[in-house]
Amino acid sequence: MVKKKKTKKKAVRKKRPRPLLAHAFTPKAYKGRKAVVLGLGKSGLAAAKLLARKGFRVFVSDSRPRRELRDIAKKLPASVRWEAGGHSDKILDHHFIVKSPGIPHHTPILAKAREAGMPVFSEVEVALAFAPKIKVIAVTGTNGKTTTATMTAAAFKSGRKKVHLLGNIGETVSGSVSKLRKGDTVILEVSSYQLEDSRYFKPDAAAILNITSDHLDHHGSMQAYVEAKTRIFRRQDHDNFCIFNTDDPLSFGLTRECRARKIFFSRTPTNRSAAWLEKKKICLRMHGEKKTHKIAPPKIPGAHNLDNAMAAALLAACQGVKPAAIAKAFKNFKSVEHRLEDIGKVGNLLCLNDSKATNVDSTIAALRSLDDRAGKILLVLGGVQKPGGFKALRPHIETRVKAVFAIGNAAPKIEEDLQGVTHVFPCGTLEQAVQVAYQIGQKGESLVLSPACASFDQFESFGHRGRAFKDLVKKFGRKKR
Ligand code: ADP
Repeated sequence: MVKKKKTKKKAVRKKRPRPLLAHAFTPKAYKGRKAVVLGLGKSGLAAAKLLARKGFRVFVSDSRPRRELRDIAKKLPASVRWEAGGHSDKILDHHFIVKSPGIPHHTPILAKAREAGMPVFSEVEVALAFAPKIKVIAVTGTNGKTTTATMTAAAFKSGRKKVHLLGNIGETVSGSVSKLRKGDTVILEVSSYQLEDSRYFKPDAAAILNITSDHLDHHGSMQAYVEAKTRIFRRQDHDNFCIFNTDDPLSFGLTRECRARKIFFSRTPTNRSAAWLEKKKICLRMHGEKKTHKIAPPKIPGAHNLDNAMAAALLAACQGVKPAAIAKAFKNFKSVEHRLEDIGKVGNLLCLNDSKATNVDSTIAALRSLDDRAGKILLVLGGVQKPGGFKALRPHIETRVKAVFAIGNAAPKIEEDLQGVTHVFPCGTLEQAVQVAYQIGQKGESLVLSPACASFDQFESFGHRGRAFKDLVKKFGRKKR
């Protein structure tokens, strides 16, 4: 018998690119390297376009099925290759990853990439590396980012600075970097999702407004969430500023880890406060100044907005914006859409759209901030609930809220957690909630959408939910005079 000769198959080992030493992304250090953009959302698309325009070879990978991605992928430059339906090992044939903020850290491909020594950057830090010499001002916190960033931009504008309000709030940094000119100021709203991969982010001035538990499903633990927030100051040094809220224990507890020049605000004056409140005015005294400047805060409801205004004033003042310019900006400031947005009196009810209240803390802030003018409150709650339930709302609901209209997935939990404090109407949809509210609402009462939940079970976003609310209020309110 002829013995078959065993042919030993030579293992074909694919040559992977040599890992780069981990350091900040700079166009020069990474020139000629191959980029992966993980996730083709708004920031992923903008990052892919920017990198392709700057001559990088770009590969985009997204877990959504091809049919969902086709339309977005059409917006990619022809040179960009892409895959759908999951993240394949092709990714490992590249040199670095730009990760979209929504992709969780524990995604398996990221573990493989880390093992292979591939640096993972955030869209923000990669995009900023292409900017000319600009000032970067960053705002983070669990609640109040958009409002504070918008107030800060208004203060800088009033101080005659060329300002770009970017990040979570509107345009991506990647999409706007070509419009930036030397000496401009970029005000960035940065969420924990964006910060978690921003290891080299170094803003000239930053603010951490507050930290309470949120987004734990994404970060995995409170510790990881807090750690992500600290990235806003980790790279800062003594030439930079970081604003802290003395009244917020969790974020204030981080000051020891921060090397930047620290500036504090608090509702009551303390030895260290550079901003505090006195007789409904913001008092501002920067380090080394003898004079205390008194500024009227923006005319929008809520003590939390005084915190936001103090942080914005300090961000502007530490960059040389004069108190008079800040005061002028605050005088003209209007509430931001979907944040306790005053829709006015529709039918017999005063209506407020606080669709952006996506967690219990911000709904508490909203309830606290409504003064007696608002009368009894008809509150729409619900959507996709966050961990922790709704029991923390009980004392705030007991005194002011006439009825709760529970919508979306969270409705049964809302009924359970608020049992006995007020009447809860299970409504299912927002449409039904507004309809029932107009049936039982009386003159002098307020209809408030401040849902304490994410919107994704019934809406594309909190913006979509807020706009739907405004339309429904018109629909049912006009009938009720
Ligand atoms: P973010 O961008 O962080 O989500 P926003 O400025 O959009 O914050 O405000 C969202 C909601 O959070 C507001 O409608 C309000 O109810 C609440 N909020 C705003 N600022 C604060 C604050 N400083 N502290 C607590 N809650 C706040």
